[in-house]
Amino acid sequence: MDTSNFSIEFYPPKTAEGADKLRVARAKLAGHNPKYFSVTFGAGGSTQQGTLDTVREILAEGHVGAPHLSCVGGSRESVREVLNQFKLAGVSRIVALRGDLPSGYGGAGEFRYASELVEFIRAETGDAFHIEVAAYPEVHPQARSPEDDLQNFARKVRAGADAAITQYFYNADAYFQFMEQSRRLGIDVPVVPGIMPITNYTQLMRFSDMCGAEIPRWVRLKLASFGDDSASIKAFGLDVVTALCERLLAGGAPGLHFYSMNQAGPTTALWQRLAGK
Ligand code: FAD
Repeated sequence: MDTSNFSIEFYPPKTAEGADKLRVARAKLAGHNPKYFSVTFGAGGSTQQGTLDTVREILAEGHVGAPHLSCVGGSRESVREVLNQFKLAGVSRIVALRGDLPSGYGGAGEFRYASELVEFIRAETGDAFHIEVAAYPEVHPQARSPEDDLQNFARKVRAGADAAITQYFYNADAYFQFMEQSRRLGIDVPVVPGIMPITNYTQLMRFSDMCGAEIPRWVRLKLASFGDDSASIKAFGLDVVTALCERLLAGGAPGLHFYSMNQAGPTTALWQRLAGK
């Protein structure tokens, strides 16, 4: 199987120990030759320095590093400043997002939607960056309707996005439907499925509730039935997610983007299965 369009996501570590662990994980994952490593960005700029530091390390190690940039809570001036820092660091690709402000955070800032951020990046920096945006085959939780969400995705692409990465999902049909409907709107950019390995039942349920990803009933019941048996959860999760990835790639997905959660093991297990090793 062709793994040359596989990419891997990290979040910026909060402590020196976390940074050391991430270096070790990254060294292992780099052995698979991912297309790029991306690094998330806390809404309101909360992880800005950590994102930049991590991306700098990735670039210094000779890999492609793509910082995420979320605009909610930011101003034109603050985003301009971040873009300058990215340019100076040698960044050539960005994942552009709206972000979610933590409750209690002050104003929403000067950007309402990711489409406005993409428009701003293009106006400020031309073609300096390859821009990726987020897509939601199972519909963004705040969307007024699936149709509205699709139109908003199209708006981001028309504003200048080159490609998209999806929120994670476990229903391949949701992705194929989304692709079909996007094509009908004339959207033909690559949309790479975001893949969340399954390793921990409680964590998976919590994340999925927050981001609107559906865990199929049979998967949920099986995972719950394993209780604290982490080895069985991981083995079953690996089977389920490998089958999902195989189906997506066979159906024309242009690559895969792994949410590594800063761990080498789960992504490596999937990668090796997919590569037939
Ligand atoms: P948008 O595309 O702006 O959409 C947000 C909502 O607004 C949707 O419901 C959409 O339908 C609606 N909408 C859009 N435009 C309009 C309009 N003109 N009028 C009315 N409604 C509209 N979050 C972070 O904070 N940091 C990260 O690093 C990060 N990385 C991510 C990476 C990926 C691949 C994905 C899938 C998500 C990531 N997120 C990240 C989470 C993301 O910020 C949230 O899902 C957020 O709620 C939406 O961001 P967006 O860029 O998709 O927003």
